[in-house]
Amino acid sequence: MKEQTLAIHYGYDKDEYKTMAVPIYQTTAYDFQTAERAANLFALKELGPIYTRLNNPTTEVLEKRIAAVEKGGAAIATSSGQAAIFYSVANLAEAGDNIVVAKKIYGGATTLLTHTIKRFGIEARIFDSDTASDLENLIDEKTKAVFFESLSNPQISVADVDKIVEIASKYNVITICDNTVATPVIFNPIEHGVDVVVHSASKYINGQGTAIGGLIVESKDLNKKLIGNERYPHFNEPDESYHGLVYADLPFPLFTLRIRLSLIRDIGATPAPFNSWLLIQGLETLAVRVKECSRSSLKIAQFLEKHPKVLKVNYPGLPSDESYEKARRYFRDGMASGLISFDVGDLEYAKKILDRTKLFSVVVNIGDSKSIITHPASTTHQQLNAEELAKAGVTPGLIRLSIGLEAYEDLIDDLKQAMES
Ligand SMILES: *Cc1c(COP(=O)(O)O)cnc(C)c1O
Repeated sequence: MKEQTLAIHYGYDKDEYKTMAVPIYQTTAYDFQTAERAANLFALKELGPIYTRLNNPTTEVLEKRIAAVEKGGAAIATSSGQAAIFYSVANLAEAGDNIVVAKKIYGGATTLLTHTIKRFGIEARIFDSDTASDLENLIDEKTKAVFFESLSNPQISVADVDKIVEIASKYNVITICDNTVATPVIFNPIEHGVDVVVHSASKYINGQGTAIGGLIVESKDLNKKLIGNERYPHFNEPDESYHGLVYADLPFPLFTLRIRLSLIRDIGATPAPFNSWLLIQGLETLAVRVKECSRSSLKIAQFLEKHPKVLKVNYPGLPSDESYEKARRYFRDGMASGLISFDVGDLEYAKKILDRTKLFSVVVNIGDSKSIITHPASTTHQQLNAEELAKAGVTPGLIRLSIGLEAYEDLIDDLKQAMES
């Protein structure tokens, strides 16, 4: 079946009440019924709900669906995209290790991966995901992951995924791709050999700005890469925190299982069942929304490109864009999602445009059905220093748009009056 169909039906057998909507299991715990079943669940002889910090039937439907839609083998949901990124990295690296991180990524991911994680003794080395030309030199025996965004937020450039995967595979290093902006409608990283896909489900998957959530999907083949791989001893040696369990001996997709049994168990950051339900609703309409907003975004990017006050437009759907060739190569049906950024030269003018828009909201979010305008240098990327800003490609006059589902003609009119009045 196609992913568009799986996003609507997969992973939910209508239960005895035949509900069309997936029920919200608003419960903390589960009745094991017998002591033996309880023991079996804890001993992983069978998998099933134990306690909502670990798993929940509503959340499980979301996990199954995103795994299917991303063409993966298994998934785990987290309370936010940040938690998803943290868990995927912490599942592989520990003090003394390093990770190689793309320079063009979400501001929160930059602070997490280059500052916060550093305090846990994990070093981040920065590479250029546009070309991956510097990646190979950065990998050594302590490298545990290569992290990048397929379509980066807010620079909107397309990673050279095949090249990144080729280099990482040569050293048996696991690749983690944040696919939040491209979405599985446009691009499936796993089809290109990526090992782990993460999402901020708060964005396009939710689609209406109503819940924060994160998702981690592992490829179907990831066990093969983990088992016996000296780079990843945690999967191959006894886990003292789980009475000597060796993950590699288990017949389950190990990457997300270990996050569940160890990181989610110990750190929490589990989604609320109601939020999982909201994300299930969002996933159902993801395909139609992303198609529509890709179509509108191209029209708006074309308008901006012709505007005399605009120095530069970043939108991979434009032939003039640096990422155009890669977007053609990697993305489906000429789509390029709903993020556009453009440079108007100076900070004051950029802020004025934000203040004058009426239909666009000044909000730091993306992927909402309502269009959004942001000034990254003073908001999402404010915590970065000048050097980091320059590295991330965030100039003072850069404005980012997240195109929603309004008629594109109305959005163009709004930008016109804001830029010209
Ligand atoms: C928003 C975002 C995140 C962080 O996700 P939250 O759900 O806000 O924690 C991570 N990566 C990208 C690309 C994002 O846009």
